[in-house]
Amino acid sequence: MGWESYVRKVVPYVPGEQPNEAKMIKLNTNENPYPPAPGVAKLLAGFDVDRLRLYPEPTCKVLVDAIAEYYGLDSSQVFVGVGSDDVLAMIFLTFFNDKKPIVFPDITYSFYDVWADMLRIPYETKPLDEKFKIKKEDYYGENGGVIFPNPNAPTGILMELSEIEDIVAHNRDVIVVVDEAYIDFGGVSALPLIERYDNLLVVQTFSKSRSMAGMRIGYAMGNPKLIRYINDVKYSFNSYTMNQTALALGVEAMRDKEYFEETRAKIIATREWTKQELKRLGFSFGDSKSNFIFATHETVPAREIFEALRKENIYVRYFSKERIDNYLRISIGTQTEMETLIRFLETYLTHL
Ligand code: PMP
Repeated sequence: MGWESYVRKVVPYVPGEQPNEAKMIKLNTNENPYPPAPGVAKLLAGFDVDRLRLYPEPTCKVLVDAIAEYYGLDSSQVFVGVGSDDVLAMIFLTFFNDKKPIVFPDITYSFYDVWADMLRIPYETKPLDEKFKIKKEDYYGENGGVIFPNPNAPTGILMELSEIEDIVAHNRDVIVVVDEAYIDFGGVSALPLIERYDNLLVVQTFSKSRSMAGMRIGYAMGNPKLIRYINDVKYSFNSYTMNQTALALGVEAMRDKEYFEETRAKIIATREWTKQELKRLGFSFGDSKSNFIFATHETVPAREIFEALRKENIYVRYFSKERIDNYLRISIGTQTEMETLIRFLETYLTHL
């Protein structure tokens, strides 16, 4: 077929499964186990459906303003999109147009190479060290742009702010993107650096620490000129990215600081408890500062544990990829869910 040679052929990203079982413990896509802020439910219940006749406000002003206010920024420093996946895709499209390859770690968020391939952006990966840490010097050479998550995914390992600044400072002629999807679970954000470096974009999301993965809200923060360029591309692609409910509910979620602090503290406490228990059961892992633990067992292959958990309706994530195919990525659920997980693992591992 002639037309087939003109298809944009891509190998798509494969998201974690979203099973719909009544009784399951879902620890496979790093969602938040707690509901969104109480005001979100109230607002949704009273949402005036007639508003859906109208297009949403295209600049997303209410949400941009709420995010800017929360971080003490000017609204011109904030861009919002349909989850950070959309924000990151827009950033790739806007800034990664050099012939030189963009660079990111070999073990990282597996969407980066998918966007690069889809948009025909050349890329190079830099291996993490044997402890799964990013080696900052790897990012000092000439390149077409830099992107990495902090904490990294799926390792959960955090990079020091001073090291991030070193990478940004060594790359003044290209855009450096720090993907902070998991920063609220114990990391230090690179956000203050945007005032000093006009080549830095910090990307965050409502999907994890704000319990709103289903609402699809993400945002980028950076120099107003960078934000203007992303908006130009967005308006050239789809003017109305954020729907009416996402705009209204996003504002509500951002304003409830108390609930945000309370739920993230619970997740951090449960994560630390889970680390202790996993260690006791013979697992090892780096010091995760995210809402997941990337663990390997001393004797039992990860794939076997993954299958055994699945039979119990406990879903975790397994990647059959070089270097990490003996690891499980276990999202942090409620304390009760993690207790069930540990109880099962204890029985399973002692009866093998
Ligand atoms: N960045 C990283 C590192 C992630 O793990 C994820 C979640 N899959 C995302 C970005 C995208 O999240 P969302 O689109 O839900 O904001």
